[in-house]
Amino acid sequence: MHGSEGGGCSCAACGPHHEEEEGHGRHEVALIAGAAVLLAAGLVVDGATPYGGAALMLFALAALAAGFDLLKSAIRSLLRLRFTMEVLIGIAAAGAFLIGHPAEGATVLVFFAAAELLEARAAERARRSVADLFSLAPVSALVRRDEGWTKLEVHEVGVGERVLVRPGDQVPLDGVVVSGASSVDQAALTGESVPAAKEIGDEVFAGTQNLEGSLEVEVTRPDTESTLARVAAYVEEAQQRRSRTERFIERFARVYTPAVIAGALAVTALLPLVFGIPFADSVYRALSLLVIACPCALALSTPVSMVSGITAAARQGILIKGSDYLEAVGRARVVVFDKTGTLTTGRLQVTAVKGSGDAGEREILHIAASLEAGSGHPIAAAVMAKAREAGVEAGPVEGFVAVPGSGVCGTLGGRACALGNGRLFPEVESAWEEEKGRLEAAGQTVVLVGDGGRVIGLIGLMDTIREDAAATVAGLRARGIRTVMLTGDNERVAAAVAGRLGIDEYRAGLLPAEKVQAVEDLTGRFGEVVMVGDGVNDAPALARAGVGIAMGAIGSDIAIETADVVLMHDRVAGIETLIDLSRKTMRVVRQNVAVSIAVKTGIAVLAVPGLVTLWMAVAIGDMGLSFAVIANALRIPWGRERSHPTPAETAENQTKPLAVHHDNTL
Ligand code: ADP
Ligand code: MG
Repeated sequence: MHGSEGGGCSCAACGPHHEEEEGHGRHEVALIAGAAVLLAAGLVVDGATPYGGAALMLFALAALAAGFDLLKSAIRSLLRLRFTMEVLIGIAAAGAFLIGHPAEGATVLVFFAAAELLEARAAERARRSVADLFSLAPVSALVRRDEGWTKLEVHEVGVGERVLVRPGDQVPLDGVVVSGASSVDQAALTGESVPAAKEIGDEVFAGTQNLEGSLEVEVTRPDTESTLARVAAYVEEAQQRRSRTERFIERFARVYTPAVIAGALAVTALLPLVFGIPFADSVYRALSLLVIACPCALALSTPVSMVSGITAAARQGILIKGSDYLEAVGRARVVVFDKTGTLTTGRLQVTAVKGSGDAGEREILHIAASLEAGSGHPIAAAVMAKAREAGVEAGPVEGFVAVPGSGVCGTLGGRACALGNGRLFPEVESAWEEEKGRLEAAGQTVVLVGDGGRVIGLIGLMDTIREDAAATVAGLRARGIRTVMLTGDNERVAAAVAGRLGIDEYRAGLLPAEKVQAVEDLTGRFGEVVMVGDGVNDAPALARAGVGIAMGAIGSDIAIETADVVLMHDRVAGIETLIDLSRKTMRVVRQNVAVSIAVKTGIAVLAVPGLVTLWMAVAIGDMGLSFAVIANALRIPWGRERSHPTPAETAENQTKPLAVHHDNTL
């Protein structure tokens, strides 16, 4: 969208060329102000002595002051036969002088320069608000050096060093708590001021705010690779990547600009011939057409809206990696959810451990904990916690293998052991099948424990449906969106969750590859689908979906890296916020495009019979329109807030013991 492309927009607001704007800002303001004074003086002098040389002089000076750069680049482009915006405006201004309308020629240049500058400022503001968000990034850290704590700049701190974060301090770098306990406000990343409890072993993130306790943190990443820095980089990249609509508008501008120029030439030639209008008048009307041909507002209409939408999302902890995704989310007719960790909390609890005669409960837990030590699955975390609670030690495992969607296997003390669902076992004795069926009927996820291919026990686990899941599913239905749940868990649990949440369709017992297949089926039936998952064990299905959304990604690098859209917080309702934001952004885009085309066409139509003056063309058709388009885009962040739980409510929910959720516990 840079000035050099034929017919493209060259307004400072469209291109990502900040340095220029900043460097020239003050200089430009002074020049334009000076030009405006000269123009005003010219008008006064012209009023006193019409058509005097003094007035002409003042108008010419005003035109040069405001339009010197523009005229220079117009001539350069014209020599290369490129019809840039500068060429259009340059010809319009020069033409006005030539046919005896110097005041209007100068006005065109002064207004145009002012519009450019203000547009650049406004667009920069939309883009900046993200920078603001991340300018929160801390600059210094208290680092442990032999003598004690030394204040250093964050870039001087190495991985593995220890930093002190006092109450009220900002966490300077990503790291792990090695001493102390506190709660941290992670709003800088998640968009939500919910205090997150932190104790030894927990991750903390640069830019978040330590609340009450002192923490000693071992740095795990250099400042340039902190979660905050990476999210900021993604947002910035997304703002610059053009969407399908933007590319379409650009192509349209490429046709439209030459078309209006051709129209202007036709007007110049035909009006005197056909209607006997004086040549100077027809030229004047044609010049207005040239001003209108400037596609700036049109080219601006989509990108400013997209930037505004992406920025608004980032402020709420939603990282959108490109305007195409923002566009696609609003269009999707189906949202696919992964069950575990998405519709449920994924914080499972072991509710039953059963062993056979020779293998008691502790033996079952011992085998399970040993095998799960190598797994990152939510089931593993629950099993390990239970073993710790029961004081059961895990033993060393050889040849550990995790089978996605099935379970884990390995050799423990010379015995080939396994833990997982029925897929891992060629044959399950009927007694275990019965026991398993009984627990599943009660809504539990059941994993079998095997020794040498024979089932010797089982473990039942309960997950908790998220507080906001049912409301989100209902909210999506209200928006005309179909909901689908995919899970590797058993049919009974899936049916219970789907029923409780009012999910339209579910598929259970899926292997990761079958989840991909399911996404493909749905895409065939409904067009591009949106899929929400945890971004870790659903990565293949997320990648296959039109838009893959990872939820609760704050501590997960893979999720942040691989998903198209990342919800840093773990509120599934974020998907509603995202859809609303997307729809609003696309509504603003449509309004902007429609208004740009309508106003330009309207002025063009009125210009032919001479009802539009040059200054009207530039003030309304260019400057006014660009403003309207930007102002419309800047209102995207507002008025979209829905009834989210207050931070206090959410905090309470998070600390409530699972058992209290009678309604939601399966
Ligand atoms: P979901 O679709 O619910 O996220 P997964 O595909 O991760 O489920 O796993 C599906 C099933 O595979 C689980 O319900 C469990 O039976 C089994 N499984 C997978 N990984 C493990 C593991 N580490 N330990 C025990 N069972 C596992
Ligand atoms: Mg999962």
